[in-house]
Amino acid sequence: MKSLLHYVVILLLVARCSEEPKYAYGIEPMEWSEYSKSVSLDSNMALLNLEQLLEFEKMDIRYATSNNFTGQVIYPTADCFSRKPVAKALKAVEDSLSALNLGLILYDGYRPYAATVLFYEVYQDTTYVASPYSGSRHNRGCAVDIGLYDLETGEALIMPTGYDDFSEDAHQAVVSLNREAEQNKIILREVMIAFGFEPYPHEWWHFDFKGWKDYPVMDISFDELNQN
Ligand SMILES: [Zn+2]
Repeated sequence: MKSLLHYVVILLLVARCSEEPKYAYGIEPMEWSEYSKSVSLDSNMALLNLEQLLEFEKMDIRYATSNNFTGQVIYPTADCFSRKPVAKALKAVEDSLSALNLGLILYDGYRPYAATVLFYEVYQDTTYVASPYSGSRHNRGCAVDIGLYDLETGEALIMPTGYDDFSEDAHQAVVSLNREAEQNKIILREVMIAFGFEPYPHEWWHFDFKGWKDYPVMDISFDELNQN
């Protein structure tokens, strides 16, 4: 006959397993039901589909393909979302750029927290990938990765490096030897600053919207956003 201790151990193990947290890095990102509640209280919380909102954007959502630093398809669909005030500011950026015959290339916007965890587990340098202990500004729907293209030719403008090139050449402060690339980096940076974005020093393509701290980290999938 099994001892009482045996049963106590089993009970303790079962209890421990059921308490296993869903997220391993001490963050409890907002999930769908909480997110939809927050949107009903404040429409600025809403994640908007930028492809539907913008007019001249070019989509190049690398994380919906395996052409990214992880070598894996991360997103089920090639979508780009951001919080409403961020989307409105990008619309103003687009209007301003169209006067220069330029359009925005969208590489990434809102990123579910689960993707940030995966990025970190693939590439543990938090200069280039966000720490899962704090989450990314992309997880808050307040960061965008973007480039520029010529509205007439449809060609991407040359930049100091390719997208997601984790080298010093991608830094804002490093002057590119290619004068055209340097100039294009500055055009993008200045227009983004003018409409409320802050450049990230280590990546010419990444911009955070001011006030990002007011928006919580979320783990809502693209499928949930598209189905609701
Ligand atoms: Zn980014």
